[in-house]
Amino acid sequence: MSLLEARHYLVGDGTEVRRLLPQRTLRSVGPWCFVDHYGPDDVAHSEGMQVPPHPHCGLQTVSWLLAGEIVHRDSLGSLQRVGPGELSLMTSGGGISHSEESPRSDRPPVLAGVQLWVALPEAARHGPASYEHHVDLPVVAHGELRATVVLGEHAGTTGPGSAFSPLVGLDVTGEGVLPLDPAFEHAAFVLDGSAVVGGQPLEVGALLELGRGREEVEVGAGGSRVMVIGGEPLGEQLLMWWNFVCRTADEVVRAREEWEARSPRFGEVVGYPGERLAAPPLADGRLMPRS
Ligand code: MN
Repeated sequence: MSLLEARHYLVGDGTEVRRLLPQRTLRSVGPWCFVDHYGPDDVAHSEGMQVPPHPHCGLQTVSWLLAGEIVHRDSLGSLQRVGPGELSLMTSGGGISHSEESPRSDRPPVLAGVQLWVALPEAARHGPASYEHHVDLPVVAHGELRATVVLGEHAGTTGPGSAFSPLVGLDVTGEGVLPLDPAFEHAAFVLDGSAVVGGQPLEVGALLELGRGREEVEVGAGGSRVMVIGGEPLGEQLLMWWNFVCRTADEVVRAREEWEARSPRFGEVVGYPGERLAAPPLADGRLMPRS
């Protein structure tokens, strides 16, 4: 078990995020390869979150709000307002583009949430794109502990969102013992408040690596909320660059060129009030494959 500190980044128009994954010493947890936790932010007197249209490939984005609302638009034509407790799940397949923004009007004053990426396995990463919005997610009770199944399977209960390899994402509250799948590797982080997980005190801004082979972990969250992510390792070497999850540097170069050339691969987001994001310049030194 080890505790890894988040790094702080600015995304979109300047929303500050705590990046919990990837870490230098932990590239992924099962297929989960990226975790940004943000807020609570006062968005009453600002534009709030404004992330212009940008492309993705080889992954799913999972948006899970704790407070506030965001508007999701994508190149499939989806336009969806998303609130707390609702799963916003976008599967890129071979290519998609999307934007995320705080609503222009009737905007709740506080925004907080987490965005995670799931790397798609080889069999799905060139497949079709899709968008899902699920408002009714199963909750599994273990004594005083409550685990909302955000994605994947937990203790025989499967969430409604599409998953392409064995994985789990849980939003846990209360006190008790949480059963885990020993075939998975797991990690945990606090969404809100503070908690004790596996005997380790845990605050916002840190990721607790739980490793593989665990059959359970004790969670003391009280009224706080802990996210537990896990899954079987994909067993595939991932090359992440910007918003792309690829396998080789050639794939990254091609994806970047196709976005810059407005190739149909990534489509067009309609209705976002602003320009799309340009891809950053390639820095060859950063294109080293990493697992
Ligand atoms: Mn995105």
